[in-house]
Amino acid sequence: MIRLFIPHDLAAGAELALDPGQSRYLAAVMRQAVGDELLAFNGRDGEWRVRITAVTKRAVAVRAETLARPQAVGPDLDLIVAMVKRGRVETIVEKAAELGARRVRLVTTERTNADRARVDRLTAVAIEAAEQTRRLDVPQVFEPVKLEALIAGWEPTRRLLFCDEAGDAPPILHVLTPDPSPQGGGEPWAILIGPEGGFSPRERQTLRALPYAIPVSLGPRILRADTAAISALALWQAALGDWTPKAAP
Ligand code: SAH
Repeated sequence: MIRLFIPHDLAAGAELALDPGQSRYLAAVMRQAVGDELLAFNGRDGEWRVRITAVTKRAVAVRAETLARPQAVGPDLDLIVAMVKRGRVETIVEKAAELGARRVRLVTTERTNADRARVDRLTAVAIEAAEQTRRLDVPQVFEPVKLEALIAGWEPTRRLLFCDEAGDAPPILHVLTPDPSPQGGGEPWAILIGPEGGFSPRERQTLRALPYAIPVSLGPRILRADTAAISALALWQAALGDWTPKAAP
């Protein structure tokens, strides 16, 4: 069934007019008609079965009928990634959405060579991935900030998994010991991935000195930033996240 992220409030009986882009997609591409059903979510009110009540080329109207799934969000996990090439950043945002990151934060470091990102485009990638992956929220993508600024404004309770390619960091699974307890994995975490040029020695020293930072190795091979992001997200979800359902409390 077609599943769309829509910004409107969702409640039983709510009548909603979809935007031109989604209307065209439903009417022209998916050839939907009045009476057809689809799923809608907005990141706040859960996922609803909605029925098409009117179709024109420019505007499709729907009515929310029944709650299909109550609102739920995944673990409180930020992916922090240094600015790499545009195409790769889009890939990273898409995979972060599929792998359940709650936020994607872009950072500039000494060796990044881009300091601007098309956050509107990246948000569209995040929405499309969230629709496909059936999550009930869309990861928020933030404008790039300097690594120092991110550290300066760090939430003290959030642990930082620092993917350090220097090679002397402990293996990630020695650090992420699976936590089967019901409330396990509920703590806020972040994963940091550096740029194609890696972290500078000064950055590495600063990061390793942070009390909340945990340097980890992703093995003996140097991974591209997108591969490193995907690998670290997958391992974190498997060990501490929602790939392992928690024992009922
Ligand atoms: N140019 C660097 C590699 C940077 S790879 C060099 O040749 O050393 C981009 C980022 O992916 C790194 O900054 C790191 O965060 C992550 N990464 C890549 N391979 C890794 C590994 N084996 N262990 C830990 N992190 C890794």
